Amino acid sequence: MAILPIYTFDHPILKQVSTPVAEMTGEIKLFVKNLFETMNNADGIGLAANQVGSEHAITVIDIGDLEEDDLKSGKKAHKTPPLVLINPVIEAFSEQKEDFEEGCLSLPTFRDKVTRPTGIQVRFYDLDMKEHRLEADGLLSRVMQHEIDHLNGVYFFERLSPMRRAMAHPKLRRIQLGQAEAEYPVYLEQKHPQRRKKKK
Ligand code: ZN
Repeated sequence: MAILPIYTFDHPILKQVSTPVAEMTGEIKLFVKNLFETMNNADGIGLAANQVGSEHAITVIDIGDLEEDDLKSGKKAHKTPPLVLINPVIEAFSEQKEDFEEGCLSLPTFRDKVTRPTGIQVRFYDLDMKEHRLEADGLLSRVMQHEIDHLNGVYFFERLSPMRRAMAHPKLRRIQLGQAEAEYPVYLEQKHPQRRKKKK
C-alpha cells in the first residue's frame, strides 16, 4: 500500500467530472486501499479519487464514531463502518437543510460553514460492482455530499454565499500558491510561466 500525495487547489483535475468505473479490476482494488491509507494518514474522514489525481468516480469515507449529534453533545455514538462508493449518485435530498463547518484535504488550513440538505438517498456500487441504495443523514450525509461534489468537480467553497466566498479569497489564494501548510504530502502542479494563447 502507498500514501499518495493529495492534490490541492487549483489543480485542474479537481474541476473535472470523474469517469464512471465500468469494470472492477485488481488495479482499482489496490487503488482503493491506497485511497484509504492516504485518507487515514491525513486524518481525513472522506477522500475522492480526483484528490489524488485519478479520474475514477470513487470515494472512500470513514467517519468512525464521529456523528454530527455526538459532536454537539460530546457523546460517543456507534461506529459507522468505512465505505467505498463507486459511481455514486445522489437520487434525493431532504427539504430540511443545515449549516455545518467543513474542511477539505485539498484546501489545507481552510474551513467554513456550508449549508446543505440534512439527508440524502444515494445509489452506488461496491467493490464487487453490486448496486446499493442508502439513506444517510447527519455527518455521513454531509461527507457523502462533499465527496460526491468532488467527483463532479465542485469544491465546498463554491457552495458558500458570495460574501463568504469573497472573504475566503485570500486563504484560497495562499493555497493556490502552495503557501498553506499541510501535515500530509500534497501535490501542486507548477503553473507554466507563459500561458498558451487562446485559439479564436
Ligand atoms: Zn474535500
